[in-house]
Amino acid sequence: MSAIFHAGISGARGRMGRAVSAVLDAREDVVVAARFDRGESPDLSLCDVIIDFSTPEASVELAQACAAVGGPALVIGSTGLTEEQDAEILKAAEKIAIVRSGNFSLGVNILIGLVEHAAQRLDARDWDIEISEAHHRRKVDAPSGTALMLGEAVANGRAEDLEDIRMPPWDGITGPRETGKIGFSSTRAGGIIGEHTVLFASDDEVLTLSHSAIDRSLFAKGAVAAAAWVRSRKPGLYDMQDVLGFRQ
Ligand code: NAP
Repeated sequence: MSAIFHAGISGARGRMGRAVSAVLDAREDVVVAARFDRGESPDLSLCDVIIDFSTPEASVELAQACAAVGGPALVIGSTGLTEEQDAEILKAAEKIAIVRSGNFSLGVNILIGLVEHAAQRLDARDWDIEISEAHHRRKVDAPSGTALMLGEAVANGRAEDLEDIRMPPWDGITGPRETGKIGFSSTRAGGIIGEHTVLFASDDEVLTLSHSAIDRSLFAKGAVAAAAWVRSRKPGLYDMQDVLGFRQ
């Protein structure tokens, strides 16, 4: 058995916080040292690592608080951060180790590699790309963090900047599609955990790559694997591609 570590859960009463709690409770090598929500201040010194699925504001505040005292390490799953909030996380990562991902599933992280590979090989003048996602009715940000990660994978594959090739949502008299742009669309309905599809369409054929989350625990399992990995890393901003060893 690996060495015991002390974990904290931020957003502990939320949907993801409860899923993380169940995964941690089932592990013999983890002591859950702190569970906290809005308005509660944890004793950071009790934790080697904190897993955070809360809100963008809460994640930034937590990262700043941990950086100010040189630890604990963080795993951040909150999505919908602004550019300024992204920059604050990056700054905190100069002092502590942080794994941040819009999606902790193994399948999605494989999908990202496949999408980048396809986008690199399918000529942007012939192939249009649309990314669609569906989530439960309570989700507050769109497109999802995962859809944006898939957009980044397309942009990387095409050696472009996502902001330069991202189209506004289709609505009204849009005119014809611009060559080389990526469209995003979102569905919010019922209890859908997470569906993502990247569609590549030419005049002659359509290629569809997609992923479905069957149970929320898959994100929690990935986040806990990230926590076990990051607690002994040096300061820096990491993602699931690092945790899964896809960058070695
Ligand atoms: P949720 O059910 O609304 O849970 C969020 C929790 O965070 C709530 O318990 C909330 O408490 C708490 N919170 C709010 N402010 C806080 C603060 N300052 N400090 C500590 N806790 C605070 O949402 P969820 O479905 O679990 O999702 C949480 C986030 O994770 C969202 O951004 C979602 O998009 C993201 N997510 C990411 C992944 C991934 O793989 N990366 C997967 C699923 C979800 P109150 O209710 O009192 O406000």
